[in-house]
Amino acid sequence: MTSNGFDHKKLSNRILLGMGLGLAFGVLLNLTVADQPWAQTFLIEGLLGVVGEIFVRFLSMLVVPLVFVSLISGVSALSDPKKLGRVGGKAVGLYMLTTGIAICLALTAAVIVKPGVGASPEQTVEREISAQPSFAEVLTDMVPRNPIQAMAQGDMLPIIVFAVLIGLSIALAGKPGERVGQFFSDFNVVVMRLVGFIMLLAPYGVFALIAVLGATTGLSTFFGVLKYVLLVLFILILHAAVTYSIILRLATGLSPRVFYSKMRAVLAFAFSTASSGATIPVTLKTVEQRLGVDNKVASFTVPLCATINMDGTAIMQGIAAGFIAQYFGVDLSLTQYMMIVLMVIIASVGAAGVPGVGLILLAGVLAQVGLPAEGIALILGVDRLLDMTRTAVNVTGDAMVTTIVAKSEGEMDLSVFYDEKPERLASTRT
Ligand code: ASP
Repeated sequence: MTSNGFDHKKLSNRILLGMGLGLAFGVLLNLTVADQPWAQTFLIEGLLGVVGEIFVRFLSMLVVPLVFVSLISGVSALSDPKKLGRVGGKAVGLYMLTTGIAICLALTAAVIVKPGVGASPEQTVEREISAQPSFAEVLTDMVPRNPIQAMAQGDMLPIIVFAVLIGLSIALAGKPGERVGQFFSDFNVVVMRLVGFIMLLAPYGVFALIAVLGATTGLSTFFGVLKYVLLVLFILILHAAVTYSIILRLATGLSPRVFYSKMRAVLAFAFSTASSGATIPVTLKTVEQRLGVDNKVASFTVPLCATINMDGTAIMQGIAAGFIAQYFGVDLSLTQYMMIVLMVIIASVGAAGVPGVGLILLAGVLAQVGLPAEGIALILGVDRLLDMTRTAVNVTGDAMVTTIVAKSEGEMDLSVFYDEKPERLASTRT
């Protein structure tokens, strides 16, 4: 135990244990009582479903207040407001670079392996795929007509814009600004403390979420599209382990091993919730208190990246587009491939990091290149597992971009990054 009541390393281990036990329990249910009505009602949808849902809600509950308070606190403490433009520019540039690499890797893999040739997926019930807003709408929607409404709907980009403007105004408002800034800085410590409490529930929440998955996923859904599933998983792991390690090392000189060892809890949260949005509190806490990134950078780049940076999702979309084209015997031209690359990079801007959003984005990409949107039904049945894995990649990308930007801005405490047992607590960071 550490002075504030929890030890990150122990907690990460307990979360991983929760995942393992949850999987074992879920598979056991799947093989025994899962199809009995009582087990469905009372155990799977009942007890496990409720515990999992409450855990995800606790996390989601914190996202808007935390982003708002933390961002105001970070921006108002900036000595040089121009820095904000630089930080944003670097984050967006890195987002485009990493997502570009991700989608190119995915398309190359799909062309070489041809997962759609000979596939015989179990047709799944088609789901309503809602339309994505156009890029012009995404741009105008970034400025909230009504910030309270944006907060009520959890729209991240308008919340970021509003919080940044308030933060800048606080920085420029003299004495009253200092007083309000101090309030937000204190409030930030309080909300971070709450994140810490909720993280203590993670082993149980994660257990329940994974157990439900294990109990409800039939293996047969995977067989017809096994090549697709394995290819997506392989490229996701390749991108996270190799591309990210190289970029992190080249851009910062920092050790990817240390980076990953500190990301375990974040990865487990992202994997079990399949939501990079709901994981924001944990990502923010980890990059600040375990990787040593200053709140001035992290409070801006973490929510921004969680919204625009989705490399894992890009990988799924690239391979899925190839899979669907091959399944329907459509030969894609070079222009269509380039269109997919462009669409995938643009499409994720403004899409919230919530479960399954990748499939909605995919519908837009398919429509742009003239592929049948019904193709999505072919991969719907296996998407949850891939969603969980790509979300883990998405949040890793968010943390990596944040680390690179912070290091380049001199806003990183390397003693925290390299400290195996850091305790840079919210309460000591005022
Ligand atoms: N669930 C993913 C995320 O939250 C998005 C997706 O690919 O569906 O990052």
